[in-house]
Amino acid sequence: MNNCIFCKIAAKQIPATTVYEDEDLLVFKDINPAAPVHLLIIPKLHLDTLSAAQAEHAGLLGKMLALVPRIADEHGCAPVANADGELSGGYKTLINTGPDGGQEVYHLHMHVIGGPKPWRGQR
Ligand code: ADP
Repeated sequence: MNNCIFCKIAAKQIPATTVYEDEDLLVFKDINPAAPVHLLIIPKLHLDTLSAAQAEHAGLLGKMLALVPRIADEHGCAPVANADGELSGGYKTLINTGPDGGQEVYHLHMHVIGGPKPWRGQR
């Protein structure tokens, strides 16, 4: 086992508030949420960054992205239209990559950030 904190979360060696899990992915609440809903989707497979992904990981990356609508819906931040067709709700999906991309934890993860505004920071 390496010293990666998200590998340790995936291996249940340190606690996290898990909201979804399957054979490839884990979703848990961010410990320092920037908004009412702030979830992290990680692959159980360790990849340092998005830039470490290869063609063989396309299915895994697709699975991460395809999970977002379900997770957002389950946490009440999917965009909805009223009777006049006006949209409300919604969320951001974000993958920080490398130092200039603001990445702090070097295990690939996708943020899902939403819920009623205001949100903290510039995310
Ligand atoms: P940034 O902090 O700039 O968003 P990252 O994109 O690397 O950098 O995001 C890492 C995220 O992991 C942060 O939002 C941080 O709050 C979260 N985090 C760090 N440790 C834990 C943990 N043990 N459990 C849940 N979330 C964590």
